[in-house]
Amino acid sequence: LAQVSKWALPWADVDRMPYTITGPYLKALFDQAFVTGLHHPLQRPNADSWEQALLKTTDLMQPCANKSCEQKWFVFDNTASPRCPFCGTPVQGTLPVLDLYYEFKPTVWKPEHHRLMVYHNQYLFQWHVNRNVVRNEKLTAAQKVPVGYFTFHQGRWVLVNQKLSSLKDLTEDKEVPVGTMVDITDGKKLLLANEEGGRVVVVTMANKGN
Ligand SMILES: [Zn+2]
Repeated sequence: LAQVSKWALPWADVDRMPYTITGPYLKALFDQAFVTGLHHPLQRPNADSWEQALLKTTDLMQPCANKSCEQKWFVFDNTASPRCPFCGTPVQGTLPVLDLYYEFKPTVWKPEHHRLMVYHNQYLFQWHVNRNVVRNEKLTAAQKVPVGYFTFHQGRWVLVNQKLSSLKDLTEDKEVPVGTMVDITDGKKLLLANEEGGRVVVVTMANKGN
């Protein structure tokens, strides 16, 4: 690798690969570190902020549809018609975007500013379901086991419930028992867990025109 000029690497071209391709959470921290905090070290993000932003960014990852793409994965850029920033391949088909909400006080739900992008065979984990479960090195073995997965099944997106004992489709006012699936459609609201810290997700379908 020593023979390769660093300018030959794709990310050396900042016009083609701006730092914003790292997604909204990391972009905010880069700005805080290198703009706001440039001459003010105390205003720079701490290590925990970087860790949480990196982990939230993994929830925005999408597989590239181009089999020969060198990067294979990219961070969803919140646009209506997304494409891979590395090879330019557009995303094919609808793309469910799940926004997480928490119960601020009874009946008042607020956004977590945490978004989960769905792709075929994407897993759902406890740290998505309950805000009291934090994704870090303190997770128990049981908390690392997926509680469900998303799949594109017979032309529609579904969530297969593997372990959620109180999953509820709020739009249809219907329980979703373990071992069954629920449709993931535009505007759908799901209560992931009827418990302290349990979240609601709201679905937005992106890329509807493709
Ligand atoms: Zn690509």
